[in-house]
Amino acid sequence: MSTRLLTDPTDAATHIKAGQVVAFPTETVYGLGADAFNPTAVQRIFDAKGRPSDNPLIVHMAHAANVPQVAATVPPLAERLLKRFAPGPLTLILPRRPDVPLIVTAGLDTVGVRIPAHPVAHAFLTACETPVAAPSANPSGRPSPTSWEAVAAGLDGRIAAILKGGRAAVGLESTVVDCTATPPRILRAGAVTPADLQTVAPDIALAPAAGPVRSPGQKHRHYTPSAAVHLVERPDDASPDAAHAFIGLEAPAQPSAFGRVAVCADVAAYAHTLFDFFFQCDRDGVERIYCQRVAPEGLGLALMDRLERAAAR
Ligand code: AMP
Ligand code: MG
Repeated sequence: MSTRLLTDPTDAATHIKAGQVVAFPTETVYGLGADAFNPTAVQRIFDAKGRPSDNPLIVHMAHAANVPQVAATVPPLAERLLKRFAPGPLTLILPRRPDVPLIVTAGLDTVGVRIPAHPVAHAFLTACETPVAAPSANPSGRPSPTSWEAVAAGLDGRIAAILKGGRAAVGLESTVVDCTATPPRILRAGAVTPADLQTVAPDIALAPAAGPVRSPGQKHRHYTPSAAVHLVERPDDASPDAAHAFIGLEAPAQPSAFGRVAVCADVAAYAHTLFDFFFQCDRDGVERIYCQRVAPEGLGLALMDRLERAAAR
């Protein structure tokens, strides 16, 4: 299959209507979409990514008012979260409507829904006229793509089209909140932070690291570049070498001794840059990437989650 590069959201939507899969930009990372009500099309997502069939997909829609198309009920708390954070980088887990194909939810009786804020995603989802199931547009296990070039590097020839947009603003996947639990639980950290969520749901809890897996995707390997990832406290803990790279908030003493270096102004810039940095390092054949740890609070909680997973071998 030759993968088309598109700039018009309406053109991209014609592929969705024809049962094909299309990568599209969002403010978190690029998604790989298919018509959520077409199981054959959704199967193509799993095939293109090599995604385990027990890992459910998030359903994307243009408007919060469309959520009842896939959710059996929208509890009052979910209504309040949507009112405050949609459109935006937040996914809500809600009871699944029975007509949502089980392939989308990996057999679960719940469904993840998100309303992206990215204007191109919004135009695309509006033109699709159907909810769009979409995981991140990367081969399974690899870092999520934050540019159309990274999507093409991973999936060229395996998907019908890529809708081009700029670099993803956030750069990390959405915050996932389980609204079917009491109190609601954060299953995956993201740009909507625990403190943000507590303004609407004061009793919201972080899912325990141990215990039953509520979000199946969290048990799979994730975000792993080809290079080995090592986490360090300080830049000087990284060993300088032309085949090594460094990313963090502080500069190493000899930046020119590394093959590639990114010094980020703050945690938001670090999150925005991380997966693109991984992509560039893999393209350059970097063997080892040193990543400076950050405080696990606010957006730093999401960044440390991705860094820990990338470093786990
Ligand atoms: P991705 O879109 O590739 O970032 O992956 C989607 C994430 O959302 C995975 O971690 C899934 O486990 C999680 N997810 C999607 N739907 C559900 C659901 N119904 N229940 C719990 N987690 C979900
Ligand atoms: Mg993913």
